[in-house]
Amino acid sequence: MIKRKVTTDWIVRQIREGKAYRFYLTADWRKVRDAKKAKEHYECERCRAVGKYSPCEAVHHKLYLKARPDLALDINNLECLCKDCHYKEHHKYESKKLKDEFAERW
Ligand SMILES: [Zn+2]
Ligand SMILES: [Zn+2]
Repeated sequence: MIKRKVTTDWIVRQIREGKAYRFYLTADWRKVRDAKKAKEHYECERCRAVGKYSPCEAVHHKLYLKARPDLALDINNLECLCKDCHYKEHHKYESKKLKDEFAERW
């Protein structure tokens, strides 16, 4: 657990050094992540939106950490997702590309 105060500069430096994962070890992140989970009752928000229940297994940054490190600890930039929804979110461009390629063949 990293106890230091998380600042945008610090996050940017971690990303530059290829150590963005260190952000997820900070006490500051764990606090906001846990607050977000509690707020969403430990449920996946996307599944809930379509009337399904799935447990929240990942707290996702809507605007990715690398794109907007200044929003890394902003609870409004977080989304509770289940494993499937989180996987889809991070592979949506790939699957779109695959679909396009598929479409082209027909
Ligand atoms: Zn889900
Ligand atoms: Zn994510």
